[in-house]
Parts: sequence; structure tokens; C-alpha cells
Amino acid sequence: MKLNFPCENHKISLDFGFDASDDLSLKGFYELFDNKHPGVDFDLPEGIDIFAAFEGIVVRVENHIGMGNTIGIRNGNILSLYAHLSKIEVNLGEIINSGQLIGESGNTGKATTSPHLHFELRDLRYKVLKDMVFKPEFEMEINNFQDQFNYKINNSNNPKNLLFLSKMYFGSEEFAEKIKIVNNLKINFDEILPQDVDIKIPNFN
Ligand SMILES: [Zn+2]
Repeated sequence: MKLNFPCENHKISLDFGFDASDDLSLKGFYELFDNKHPGVDFDLPEGIDIFAAFEGIVVRVENHIGMGNTIGIRNGNILSLYAHLSKIEVNLGEIINSGQLIGESGNTGKATTSPHLHFELRDLRYKVLKDMVFKPEFEMEINNFQDQFNYKINNSNNPKNLLFLSKMYFGSEEFAEKIKIVNNLKINFDEILPQDVDIKIPNFN
């Protein structure tokens, strides 16, 4: 799967992995990532078109405290995040083509000092946020892409059932049946899955 630029401006203003420990203007923004910038930033005025960097299904549409108006698009084990948007043009569970218009740049959320796009990639096979993020290499194939991956059930924060997993990885409850079939499970959609069991997460297509 190829990674395209999410905007026409290809100039990265803050690179992946930038250590913000000593930068007072960025203080506390990336605490969950050992103070390292978990994505790349593109300096953009408000209202600039943002495009999907790859094809996928919309799994997050939210107003996040730090990232502001944020879209998450997943394909296989790869999640792309588009943050600080002024406008969102997609809905949860919608399948998006690569290059499709998804929103407009902005300055929403607490972890921003001026309008820009924060673009982030996560490999969902990892358990901890700081291990999930990796450096985007634009106009290249994503090497760690896998069409299907395993999620080990962790019920400590929220008890997980098939409906929950469907919402988490597909943006709606419509894929609960598909997850059930792929894993050959004989349980109800609302039944809590056993702790530490590996569940295969199929792709949306
Ligand atoms: Zn950023």
C-alpha cells in the first residue's frame, strides 16, 4: 500500500521523532510518546484541503482534547490520523479512496500553537501508543502493512465484545458479523470476549 501526501504542500515543518523535551512552546504535548513528536506537521493556513493518504475505512471522527478535530482512517494494521482540522467531510464507517478530500486544515485542540496539519501513522499490532507510531515515508510503499492482524483482548479499560471491536476497527457495528466469521466464534455479539485471546481483525474490503 502506497502512502501519498495528505496535502498539496509537501514541506514538513516538524519532523517525526523531534524531541520536544526542551521546547517550552511544545511542553507536555507528546508526554505519551516520551516527548517525541509522534507524526509529521505541515504548516498550512486554516481552510486548506486535506486528502486521504491511502484508501481505508473511517474509524475515528472526534474532537480530541489535544488533537482537536481528528479523522482516523484504517487499512489493515495501519491507522492514519489527521489532526487539528477546521472541517471534517467524512463519517464513521465510510470507505475512503486514496486522494479523496476528507476535510480542511485548522488549529483546533490544545496541542497546537498555529494552524497546521498533524499527520500520524500507527501500526495497530503494537499495544502501547509510543510503540505504535512510526515515521511516514511519503510516495513509498508502507513496508509494515498487513491486510489482517491480531488483537489480543484486553478488558481492563473497557470490556470488549464483537460490537465494540467492530466500532473500534470499522467505525460502526456493521462488521461484528465479519469478525465473528473470520474467527469462527460461536458467541453473541454482546458477549464479553475472554481476556488475552487473540482475535483476527479482518480488513474492510
Ligand atoms: Zn504534530
